[in-house]
Amino acid sequence: MPENFCPECSGLLTFDVAARKFACKSCGLFLSRDELSEMRDRKRDQEYDQRRKTNDRGDYLEWWLSKKG
Ligand SMILES: [Zn+2]
Repeated sequence: MPENFCPECSGLLTFDVAARKFACKSCGLFLSRDELSEMRDRKRDQEYDQRRKTNDRGDYLEWWLSKKG
């Protein structure tokens, strides 16, 4: 069983065999394998959006500064 890390807090997830779910001991997250991968996908999308927004802001600032100067 490979080690899994919590998408929320990066804590170590332990697999609950009886419930067939992953449990995070750090933040209490309790997810099935499907929910876990879904959450990871969402997290990756959010990080991508965040980066894109930051880049947009940077481009705007550059444009504004170049216009001003
Ligand atoms: Zn966690």
